[in-house]
Amino acid sequence: MDDRFKKQLFHAHFVDQKRFSEISKEYKLERQVVWKCYYELKIEFESSYKIIRRLRNLFSKKKSLFGSKFQFNDFPSFYLWYQNQGEICYYCKSEQFKISLLVNEGLKKNSLGLTSKRFDKRAQNLEIERKDSSSNIYNETNCVLACYFCNNDKSDYISSEEYIKFFQPVLQARKSFFDFKYSELIKHQKK
Ligand SMILES: [Zn+2]
Repeated sequence: MDDRFKKQLFHAHFVDQKRFSEISKEYKLERQVVWKCYYELKIEFESSYKIIRRLRNLFSKKKSLFGSKFQFNDFPSFYLWYQNQGEICYYCKSEQFKISLLVNEGLKKNSLGLTSKRFDKRAQNLEIERKDSSSNIYNETNCVLACYFCNNDKSDYISSEEYIKFFQPVLQARKSFFDFKYSELIKHQKK
């Protein structure tokens, strides 16, 4: 089974939520083979699997909270939107993996990570930010991913455009700070 096929199968079940019986028919694979293969795919693509699980929860939570204002048609379109964001903060351009590691280490009380009494798991992940927050609409054009820090800083008193325009030095400083902390942490971990 080549990598492309594996990814196709992974997507079919975990993103498109096709049943094993459908997959077995569509890809002409024995049920037993499909079952065994998903057990292995979950291990092989563990990080993607974890992201999808988190996004699924987020998707259902937002959908039940915002009803008709949550306008992503279904989970596959929401997941596609997420992937297109590139896992970086729309404002400061910091990467998800760096923030995640820094907050995680901070929560473990590692002095090189980011610590705060206000942190919970939430700060580790990029958040859904509505560029126009007055409309409260969640869709592909109004939503971007933003880090906890930019999201809190921007709050809802300033538009997305003005935040980028007037706070650019802050955004660049935030990225440099995260990059610096990350390189220190990596250096420390290698020792
Ligand atoms: Zn940011």
